[in-house]
Amino acid sequence: MRDPTAFLGEEYRDLVRQDLDWRLRVLGGPSTPWCVVDGKKVLMFCSNNYLGLSGHPRLKAAALEAVKTHGVGSGSVRPIAGNMDLHVELEARLAKFKGADASLVYQTGFAANSGLIPQLAGKGDLIVSDELNHGSIIDGVRLSQAERRVYKHGDAEDLSRVLDEAERESPQFRRILIITDGVFSMDGDIAPLDRVAALGSEHGAMVYVDDAHGEGVLGEGGRGIVSHFKLTRDKVQVEMGTFSKAFGVVGGHISGSRDLVNFAYNKSRTWLLSGSHPPAVAAACIAAIDVLESEPEHVKRLWENTRYFKKAMADLGFDIGKSETPITPVMVGESSKAKKLSSKLFEAGVFALPIVYPMVAQGKARIRTIMNAALSKEDLDFAISAFEVAGRELDVISKIAP
Ligand SMILES: *Cc1c(COP(=O)(O)O)cnc(C)c1O
Repeated sequence: MRDPTAFLGEEYRDLVRQDLDWRLRVLGGPSTPWCVVDGKKVLMFCSNNYLGLSGHPRLKAAALEAVKTHGVGSGSVRPIAGNMDLHVELEARLAKFKGADASLVYQTGFAANSGLIPQLAGKGDLIVSDELNHGSIIDGVRLSQAERRVYKHGDAEDLSRVLDEAERESPQFRRILIITDGVFSMDGDIAPLDRVAALGSEHGAMVYVDDAHGEGVLGEGGRGIVSHFKLTRDKVQVEMGTFSKAFGVVGGHISGSRDLVNFAYNKSRTWLLSGSHPPAVAAACIAAIDVLESEPEHVKRLWENTRYFKKAMADLGFDIGKSETPITPVMVGESSKAKKLSSKLFEAGVFALPIVYPMVAQGKARIRTIMNAALSKEDLDFAISAFEVAGRELDVISKIAP
C-alpha cells in the first residue's frame, strides 16, 4: 500500500529544490528597531509595525490590565457568550476614529475579507477586482458565487472599461462590488480611490477598500486612505483594515454604515463561527487608537524617516520603484541576486526580506523595506551604508558614486 501522506514530503522537497520554501527566521524578543533575529542583533527593516506600537508602554499596560480584569480568553464566539464589553468599546472607538457610523472587529484581516466578500456579492452579482489585490481578497472572491472580472493594476480607465463591458454583455447584474487594496504591499503605491469611487457612483456599484497598509500611515493622524482622499462614506461603503500592522496588535475590521455592520456580523461565517479575541487584544487595540489620537508624533516621524531613506537610496543610484508610502522596494531583478543581497544585508546587521517570484513577476525581484517611526537617523544611516556596500558588491547600483 502506498503511504497516503507521501505527497507531504514530496511536495515540500519540491519547494526546497526550487528554492521556493519559506525558511522561517526567529525573532528572539520584541519587534523593535534593533531586535534579535536568529540570535543576531539586527535592524528591523521589514516589519509592519510602522509606528512601533507593538511595544508602546500604553498598549502593554492596557493588555496587562485586561488580563487582570477579564482573564486571558473570551470563552466563546461573540454571538454566543464571547462578546465582552472591551470588544464593544473597541468597535465604538474605532468607528469614531474612522468617522463612520459603525465598525466591526474580526479575528484577523484575512477573516474579514474571506468572511464578508462572499456575502456582499453572490449569484447574479459582479465583483470587479484590481489584479494585484491581496490574497485574502482573492480567497474571499473565490468563495463567492458572483461573476468576477479583473482590471489592470491601479488603472481607473481599465476599471471603467471593464464595468462598461460587463454591463453591456449582461445588463441584469443584481449588484456590483468593486474591490481594491488601498496601499499595495509589494510596490507601496496607492490605489486611485478617488477615481474608483467616482466610477462606483457612476455605475451604482459598492466600493470596498482594504486599507491594511494605509491605516496609521495615510490620512489625517493615520486615519487611512478614505481620509487621505477626503472621500465620503456614500462613495466608499466598506473600509476594511487590520490591527496587525501599524496598530501593532492583531485583528481585522470594517467600518461603514450601521446597516453594513449589522449585515456583516449576521452573515460572515468567519465571524460567527470562530472564537473572539482575548480581552488583552481588544484592550491593546483601544490603547492603540488612544495613542494615534493623542500622540501625532509617531505618524509624523514615520514620514520624516520615509523621506530621508528614499532620498538617500535614490541618491545612491538604487531603483526604488514608484512607491508613495513607507514601503520602499529596492529593485534588484533576478531572484537569486535579491536573495544574495538580503543575506549580505543580514550579515551586515540589517533585516530586510527579498520578495521574489511567485510573489512578484519573474525579473522583478526586490528587497522590500518597510519604514518604522522608531528608527533614529543613526539607524537609517547604518542601514543606508549597509545597502550601499552590498549594492556595489552585487552590482545593483547602476550609477557611479558622485
Ligand atoms: C496584511 C493584510 C491583510 C491581512 O490582515 P491580517 O489582519 O494580518 O490577517 C489583508 N489585506 C491586506 C492588503 C494586507 O496587507
